[in-house]
Amino acid sequence: MTAASANPPVPRLDLNTGASIPQLGLGVFQVPPEDTRGVVLAGLEAGYRSIDTAARYQNEAGVGEAIAESGLPRGDLFVTTKLANDDQGYDQAHVAFNNSLEELGLDAVDLYLIHWPAPKRGEYLNCWRAFEEFHRAGRARAIGVSNFMVPHLERLLESSPIVPAVNQIELHPYLQQKELCAFHAEHGILTEAWSPLAQGAVLADPVITGIARRLGRSAAQVVLRWHIQLGNVVIPKSVTPARQQENIDVFDFELTGDDMAAIEGLDRGGRTGFHPDEFNGFPEEFAKR
Ligand code: NDP
Repeated sequence: MTAASANPPVPRLDLNTGASIPQLGLGVFQVPPEDTRGVVLAGLEAGYRSIDTAARYQNEAGVGEAIAESGLPRGDLFVTTKLANDDQGYDQAHVAFNNSLEELGLDAVDLYLIHWPAPKRGEYLNCWRAFEEFHRAGRARAIGVSNFMVPHLERLLESSPIVPAVNQIELHPYLQQKELCAFHAEHGILTEAWSPLAQGAVLADPVITGIARRLGRSAAQVVLRWHIQLGNVVIPKSVTPARQQENIDVFDFELTGDDMAAIEGLDRGGRTGFHPDEFNGFPEEFAKR
């Protein structure tokens, strides 16, 4: 694969480490392990340079295969993975991190996240001590968290000199998390939106489709552009090459102030995923869904 793609390069945002992250990347949650190599190769072909996986997705190996096969310079790529809830703990995090690097076939990731605070496990501060070591050793170029709410972040900030580079949270027009985002901004933590399309649930909303029709864009492009204009990192998932192309093609148009305000008006606290205070990754919690 050549370094060039049909789509313009994705802008990058600064992390509090001094490094930067592409503002838009490809998520691979629910991509079956056997399909992941092909899905990620298609994404790289379309111009994605940031890939978001997790140990829990069981597809890190496919991500690694695609990276190796693409022939792209490692420095052009931004790879994120996450510590699974079952692996929380200081010693367990070391074992899990080594496993993730091995699966990915990499000697360092660009971002390593604690996947959930999992408050009932009571281990996230111990995980963070291990994460600090991964970061100092240069094996996790940045470290961060996911699904942390303000009280979890406050506890972490009190316990450590290293501020998470990123908090990856569920964020879309139906769940805008303004208070949490304001806390991030105050502390130099970048907001990264997971399920940015609410897994498709926002795409039929008349406010979104109305704006899309006026601009001659798709509903997904309007929603992704809204995220971009808010200044967040966004990681839409698609296994469909045409949708991957569509989702990255959001850097040549703008929403007006009125469009942004209309989408802001859709906030209704509507989660598609687990509530971070109630999810610890125990088997009975998956069964309840
Ligand atoms: P998204 O909001 O990205 O939506 C994905 C769904 O939307 C898929 O069904 C996809 O279909 C469809 N879709 C994508 N693009 C379009 C389009 N242009 N038009 C119509 N439909 C479209 O949901 P995810 O939950 O996957 O979130 C994105 C990423 O966030 C994940 O892959 C993962 O990396 C991360 N994440 C992190 C979590 C965490 O706890 N930290 C939790 C959940 C997600 P198809 O694939 O069939 O094309």
